Amino acid sequence: MTFKMFPAVVGLLLGFCLGCIPGLNEHLHWNLGFIIPFSGLVFGSISATIGFFICYRLNVKVDMEEIVILTTAAVLGYAAIDYGIYITSTITVSKIEGLRDGVYRLQNLMTFAQYMKWRLGSSSIGYVGINTKLFKMGTAGTTISYIADLGGAFMGSFLSLLYNIRIYPYCDQCLKFKERAKKLTIFVADTENQGSNILDNIRDLIKKGICEDLVSRCEQLSNEHGVEKGNVKIIIDHRFCPQCKKASIVGSVFKLTKNRWTEDRKLGFLMNSQPHPFAENSSSSCITTTSTALRDLAAQ
Ligand SMILES: [Zn+2]
Repeated sequence: MTFKMFPAVVGLLLGFCLGCIPGLNEHLHWNLGFIIPFSGLVFGSISATIGFFICYRLNVKVDMEEIVILTTAAVLGYAAIDYGIYITSTITVSKIEGLRDGVYRLQNLMTFAQYMKWRLGSSSIGYVGINTKLFKMGTAGTTISYIADLGGAFMGSFLSLLYNIRIYPYCDQCLKFKERAKKLTIFVADTENQGSNILDNIRDLIKKGICEDLVSRCEQLSNEHGVEKGNVKIIIDHRFCPQCKKASIVGSVFKLTKNRWTEDRKLGFLMNSQPHPFAENSSSSCITTTSTALRDLAAQ
């Protein structure tokens, strides 16, 4: 097993172990209105986040191949919940021909394939709505709902991986994740175009290509606007490769709406740098720089 597969195995085990926990395993197939696979999205997101941080610890790049491995593991892990339920569930048998009355392990009464056929064919799965009416689903409805759950696990894991790839840049040259040098926060009010002006200023510095200038300007802005007020929050995460010192400055912009900070992905920014080839001390160099939008980071 390669390092690339190890995080995926953890995702699979996570699903199986959750399925083995009595009480909890009954609540792992929640969806809203049969369509929105709430449990699938949450499981996929948690499974992929754990997988990503194992990759981070092992310095394994989360590239397209690893995304395919981790999203597949999230979907299979979600399906493994049912295997955990099948392995650990018991059923009370009463007055059935050929069987003594008593409590039996499900696995002693049927195969896993039979259990899944029974589970997906069941029309007894109900949903208590706003008016506490019970809706019953037939085989098709139950199967579609189950497929939607698996789709939710896929989407949850995929989106979670894209998010983590964006905020944890990787050095392809040294095969290492970059470490945080500093994190700065700027609060401004958008009503006076203060936020737009600051973001324009940051983009101009990115175009000029000197990341030391961008970092020192952000430090100055953080000192002047570090107190929480206004409705725009800019978080600047300055990271560097521990080996070649190549830096990445990841900017995330949040807006305050109804007392809740929501990220505006379109306003985010990224600046990557290379160590200056003639610098005596590469740890302090941050000079030859390429600038790009956040979407380019996701494509790395
Ligand atoms: Zn490096």
